[in-house]
Amino acid sequence: MADKVLTVCPYCGSGCQLHLLVEKGQVIGAEPAGGRTNEGTLCLKGHYGWDFLNDPQILTARLRKPMIRKNGVMEEVEWKEAIQYTAERLSAIKEKYGPDSIMGTGSARGPGNEANYVMQKFMRAVIGTNNIDHCARVCHGPSVAGLTYSLGDGAMSNSIPEIEHSDLIFVFGYNAPETHPIVARRIVAAKQRGAKIIVCDPRMTETARISNMWLPLKGGSNMALVNAFGHVLVHEGLYDKRYVEANTEGFAEYVDSIKKYTPEYAEGITGVKAADIRAAMREYAKAPTATILYGMGVCQFSQAVDVVKGLASLALLTGNLGKPNVGIGPVRGQNNVQGSCDMGALPNVYPGYQDVTDNTARKKFEKAWGVELPRKKGYPLTEVPHLILKENKLKAYYIFGEDPVQSDPNAAELREALDQLEFVVVQDIFMNKTALHADVILPSTAWGEHDGVYSSADRGFQRIRKAVEPQGDVKPDWAIISEVATAMGYPMSYANTEEIWDEMRSLSPLFSGASYQKMEQQGGVQWPCPTEDHPGTPYLYKGNQFSTPSGKGRLFACEWRPPQEQPDAKYPLVLSTVREVGHYSVRTMTGNCRALRQLSDEPGFIQISPEDGADLNILDGEIVAISSRRGRIMARAQISDRVQQGATYMTYHWWVGACNELTADFLDPVSKTPELKYCAIRLERIADQ
Ligand code: SF4
Repeated sequence: MADKVLTVCPYCGSGCQLHLLVEKGQVIGAEPAGGRTNEGTLCLKGHYGWDFLNDPQILTARLRKPMIRKNGVMEEVEWKEAIQYTAERLSAIKEKYGPDSIMGTGSARGPGNEANYVMQKFMRAVIGTNNIDHCARVCHGPSVAGLTYSLGDGAMSNSIPEIEHSDLIFVFGYNAPETHPIVARRIVAAKQRGAKIIVCDPRMTETARISNMWLPLKGGSNMALVNAFGHVLVHEGLYDKRYVEANTEGFAEYVDSIKKYTPEYAEGITGVKAADIRAAMREYAKAPTATILYGMGVCQFSQAVDVVKGLASLALLTGNLGKPNVGIGPVRGQNNVQGSCDMGALPNVYPGYQDVTDNTARKKFEKAWGVELPRKKGYPLTEVPHLILKENKLKAYYIFGEDPVQSDPNAAELREALDQLEFVVVQDIFMNKTALHADVILPSTAWGEHDGVYSSADRGFQRIRKAVEPQGDVKPDWAIISEVATAMGYPMSYANTEEIWDEMRSLSPLFSGASYQKMEQQGGVQWPCPTEDHPGTPYLYKGNQFSTPSGKGRLFACEWRPPQEQPDAKYPLVLSTVREVGHYSVRTMTGNCRALRQLSDEPGFIQISPEDGADLNILDGEIVAISSRRGRIMARAQISDRVQQGATYMTYHWWVGACNELTADFLDPVSKTPELKYCAIRLERIADQ
């Protein structure tokens, strides 16, 4: 009889609870549990994503021992030497170039909230810099910036279970069936209950296929479409005048900004018929409860923050906030990207979204941590290549639970930047592309091998639990970072993750009441949870009290800007990076699970339209060469009538034919999130080369 260990799936922000089945120290299966968000269901990653824990070494070797590069070659060493060496090199670089010459990352994947708390504390209190960031920068950074501006909190206003009870679901640039299958089930269930589904997406996703209305806009035209939606709501008198007057600010400026975005004008930019723009907003405005869900199709553009604010404005105009089954949901992709933000693994905020430039907040953390803390914001992760190659400002990089060479844009430039650094630390569970550039590799425990807390996309803290003993000479991430801190002269020692969690919540009013005990009793706690007797908050802004400085929701619209790199004669097609259901992120974990590999394996594919396939004489399944101004790769062509002519799509999971060799690092000016959804490429038959 197998033991059952209750934990949370590590493969997306849906936060599904599951039981790992453990026999003789090995995981032998997974069963769905009755978590708040999944209620006894799992997708295939939840069912089959545990296999790598048994270390099958299908693709890449699990890191089992610390390593140091000596004379250009990685050599296994004992922990004492690895920790001492890391501490000495970081101390020397700090001494020579100053604390701001060192950059660190948090990890939105397996490690958990406590490890992120310890990492940001290490960077701030030990290194002395706010240069801490993580992969939210390449995904939902615009949601944090945009929703904080509009409503006050950079998170889903609603809860995943509420989606199913909404009368209308407005899906914008979000492919739930591939990214969050359990959220997709909620959308299907809502439809079965009679809800209307409206989808804005250039590609016919599965959600678009079951929708009542699909608006296939041109890639990169989001702001024009969102402005036109606002135009219809205002000029047809569909908005909730009383709500807007009582609960929002900036209406006059908003009306002025959307003036020229008539549906006809927007049709010229977006390709969406004016009549459909009107029809969509008439449905949205009349629904008793309506929910906006959006994803990377909003955030990975160079005008992403503006679009997030524009979408929030639609919810404000129609009063779809502050009550159940409404709101706006940036559905976070990585399992703990919400948590890494919650824990302050960001260059501008401490844990609990407390601004590093706020004197009161800084003094509180200085007192608790017993050091003077830096006063200026740190660098965003996406500016790292530029800061190294062009400004010579960074000398060391501590990369923890991320593989930016695989996940970030313009991989060649990033490799060049890493090679220029004096010292690179990689702390991870598997060998990956970034670790090839490391001077030190610190091997850590994986999901299933340690305790902690994850935050689901809807602000839900849930316990993760150790199910099996790790194989090899590895340590929990928080313990490794604590040892480096101690070796650098700042003693850090925690007995367990609960001790870290309790320190964190004693400093974070938003999370103060979210104890381990409460998570055990309730199954989880959604923040805000300010006091011990507070049960948590399923939806935000009850009573329409927004967390903005004035307490009102802020309306926003502005001019549409086209994407930065336009197709031309040499690179005539547009590439957008997407996800596929069987794999997760940089695929180190799912790529080492037998069942998931059998579903799809290398090489990846490039989806193209039948028209482009015919023009280029490319057949379905044929290997093609793909080039951009930054690189050249090969992948299998997948001819699909779900794709518009001129557009192409690749998933970013694949190591061979990695699409980030092609992508561009143009950034949103506010969130510094790259335009991964739009770059110019050329496609050629291998047979013609
Ligand atoms: Fe895991 Fe997400 Fe699938 Fe749930 S929907 S089982 S959290 S991958």
